[in-house]
Amino acid sequence: MTKVTRFAPSPTGALHIGGVRTALFNFVYAKQNKGKFLIRVEDTDAERSTKEFESNILKGLSDIGIDPDESPVRQSERFNLYKLAAEKIIETGNAYWCDCSKEALDEMRKEQESAGKKPMYDGRSRNLGLKRSDNTVLRLKTPKDGELAFHDLVRGEVIFQNSELDDLILLRSDGSPTYHLCNVVDDFSQGVSTVIRGEDHLSNTPRQIHIQQALGYPSLEYAHLPMVLGQDKKRLSKRNAVTSLQDYFDQGYLESSMINMLARLGWSKGDKEIFYLDDLIEDFRIQEVQKAGAVFDSAKLDWINNHHLAALSFDAFNERLAPFLDSVGIDVTQKKNSREIIAALRSSKPTLLGVARDLIPYFSEVQAYDEKAANKFLIGSEAVLEFVQRKLNGLEIWNEESIDNVLKEAQTKLSLPTPKLNQPIRIAMTGSTQSPSLGLTLSLFDSVEVNNRIDSALKYLANSN
Ligand code: GLU
Repeated sequence: MTKVTRFAPSPTGALHIGGVRTALFNFVYAKQNKGKFLIRVEDTDAERSTKEFESNILKGLSDIGIDPDESPVRQSERFNLYKLAAEKIIETGNAYWCDCSKEALDEMRKEQESAGKKPMYDGRSRNLGLKRSDNTVLRLKTPKDGELAFHDLVRGEVIFQNSELDDLILLRSDGSPTYHLCNVVDDFSQGVSTVIRGEDHLSNTPRQIHIQQALGYPSLEYAHLPMVLGQDKKRLSKRNAVTSLQDYFDQGYLESSMINMLARLGWSKGDKEIFYLDDLIEDFRIQEVQKAGAVFDSAKLDWINNHHLAALSFDAFNERLAPFLDSVGIDVTQKKNSREIIAALRSSKPTLLGVARDLIPYFSEVQAYDEKAANKFLIGSEAVLEFVQRKLNGLEIWNEESIDNVLKEAQTKLSLPTPKLNQPIRIAMTGSTQSPSLGLTLSLFDSVEVNNRIDSALKYLANSN
């Protein structure tokens, strides 16, 4: 049987990390089985759903190469289908009208809670034979006894007691269909074979299977994915992590890095850490997904992004870097050796935005020295700066090798430990203690610029005395 999977986001928020992981696993499972991947927009909650969130979700997925095989469908445009299904359930005697008021339901809940019971609808309208009216909802007649078991590709055999499930609402009193009904009808009408979704939906599954059975639909394959957790081991949320995919792109994480990171949330393959989409289609096995929650580790994402950035050709890297250079105000045409500068700094930080920021002092004057660095290394370094400046000014050939020779000579003559020699010069050149090897750093500037920057540092020292 052809595998058909779907990602069914509710457009009530921007595309978030957990959602992308669900979409990715659905996509990969469909592709590796030569099946189809669909997207269904579950926008029945008219108050909270917006077109902007819908576009954000669809665009975010498309940006990382997760495109559906058919145009996405929207539940808000399919109400007729759900109403017909509800009629069918009524005809087969598997549903009933219920006119319990909100007050009566609240009362029922309170009584159950004070008796230490799980609050649930007690089925009091089940046998009243009520007719449809403006204040009735349609409820499913859920079997009272026995159990409902299904096989989950991740969790194995899952069993629910029917006595734990109440008669859920299929149609509200205004006639609008509820989430569970729409979800089941759509999975059937879209030919879905496999439901892969977050573990937070696990308790919905027996309810939805009861609706399927009432409609005579075939059963589906299920896989409930472990929750994505923040570093505090709590469910990933805006409080413990950056959750929006776009925010990661804005920092300069690559699409392929996000895919790599998300694939590893709950799944692994031996020691292999670096995966691209094609590798996943080859290697991923849904049965190997773990049950325990998966921690989203931002240090790991940095490590992965470093690898993916390093794997880019120089031109591809440059192309990806360009918008970040613009965003920090760097105009590469200002420097003849801009390619050389970028090549030297390309792995300075794990994100493109970080690299772009590190490049700023190579394209414009140092605005301020990092205070801590200046206090630790610059203060009292006049003799070093003057010695090196004088020696560098005397160089006839200006390149990394000749500069390195000057630095070696300075170290011997002044008999200083390396940081005492290098850091003051580094700070003078870039404002901070971080840069490539000092000889290389200096060679990225021309000799006049080096002389000027050391002068500025000496002036700063004179003023701070
Ligand atoms: N619309 C649901 C959600 O966004 C997903 C339902 C499902 O995948 O079955 O959580």
